[in-house]
Amino acid sequence: MEKIPVVQDYAPPFARDGKFHVRLTKGRFQNLRRLTSWPLLALFFGLVWVQVGGQPWLMFSFGEHKLILFGTALSWYDLPLLTGILIASASLLFCLAVAWGRVWCGFACPQSIWTWLFIRIEDMTEGRANVRVRLEGNWMSTERLLRRVTKHLLWILLAILTALTFTGYFIPIRELISEALQFELSPAVAGWLAIMAGLTYVNAGLVREKICLHACPYSRFQGVMFDSDTRTVSYDAGRGEPRAHKRDAGTDSGDCVDCRICVQVCPTGIDIRDGLQAACIDCGACIDACDSVMVKLNRPTGLIRFASEAQLEQRPSPLMRPRLAGYGAVLTIACSAVLYGFTSTTDLLVAIRRDRDALFTRLGEHHICNNYGIKVESFDPAESLVRVSVNGDATFELYGPAEIDLLENNAAWLPYRVCSQDIRSAMSTLTFHFQGHQVRTSQETTFLAKSI
Ligand code: SF4
Ligand code: SF4
Repeated sequence: MEKIPVVQDYAPPFARDGKFHVRLTKGRFQNLRRLTSWPLLALFFGLVWVQVGGQPWLMFSFGEHKLILFGTALSWYDLPLLTGILIASASLLFCLAVAWGRVWCGFACPQSIWTWLFIRIEDMTEGRANVRVRLEGNWMSTERLLRRVTKHLLWILLAILTALTFTGYFIPIRELISEALQFELSPAVAGWLAIMAGLTYVNAGLVREKICLHACPYSRFQGVMFDSDTRTVSYDAGRGEPRAHKRDAGTDSGDCVDCRICVQVCPTGIDIRDGLQAACIDCGACIDACDSVMVKLNRPTGLIRFASEAQLEQRPSPLMRPRLAGYGAVLTIACSAVLYGFTSTTDLLVAIRRDRDALFTRLGEHHICNNYGIKVESFDPAESLVRVSVNGDATFELYGPAEIDLLENNAAWLPYRVCSQDIRSAMSTLTFHFQGHQVRTSQETTFLAKSI
């Protein structure tokens, strides 16, 4: 007689006190989840340590007014670039939602990834879900107590590592770790770390799916993004119903044997057989679980699968449709704009303003001088000395600091005077050139010889 071990070992996912225990499963979507989440975790914990040319590769230092994205030092003048990145990210999310529902939530959202990490720790220390359900509330056993303490210690350790790494994107990580090890953190930073670690511990260890169910705004507006062609995790009721346990199955029974393993593995505790629900994060765990049951029953897999409403009703269901094409177009435009922004951004910001008191000073018939204020700003520590020169329609002489020391005068207005002895026209073009260590830039202005 055929056996379905998952059915035999069935235990409800809720303990007597109502606590919810997720059962881990195996399968292709869980492998896919590993393929997305492990590299993302490696990037999160690794990128914070990467330095290029002595400066971090990614840094959001509000205190130092420093923003370094992928090795490019940005200024606050580059905010449109950040806006472009946000628009591109949102468009990507919308594309994914229109095409495959909440796959972002199931496979790449930090809340899901950390929750799964915490569940794995729980599984390693306290045993599988059905064991945990049985032992829930049993505090009498020393072993049980030890296992629980170990779990919480590991959770706290992971929460602290997460908080340190996250903060390392705002404060250089090496300084942060060194100060933390020597107990020299400022109260503000120590408080921030405590809050971050606490939030990680509570979110991923205790609250878990409630964030997805009640706090995540994305789940609220996903209903607007879905249509009947969105491939989302769905139960094929036409094939599965009427459900019946294997032992009670008759000739008219569907393929669902009502083992409820799909409910046990669901991180949000829902029954996908009840239809599309806002709480479903499209993680595919129920697909893997149900496929394993179907394999054991020698029935085709895919009773639960990524399918659109139209596909389930045997209607044509194109993946590419106007809404998806629209989001795709916005995504392409935003990505192109961001790429252009990155290639055209400069590490040297220059501002020139004319002296407002006197437009020009006449020293002879053709001998004229104009006064300017110049501000040079750099976000790259390598750019500490900037050479200034001029040229233009006439022969110009520059009076003022030929080299600006940015360690002392970063973003400071400095006075300059430009003179020419052979000015013939009322207005000439004058170009200031700025040469740093690695970058150079120029800016045009006007040289006046007559009031306008
Ligand atoms: S859908 Fe699949 S996993 Fe869920 S109860 Fe039915 S047979 Fe079991
Ligand atoms: S119903 Fe399935 S896909 Fe949706 S959250 Fe639960 S296990 Fe994941």
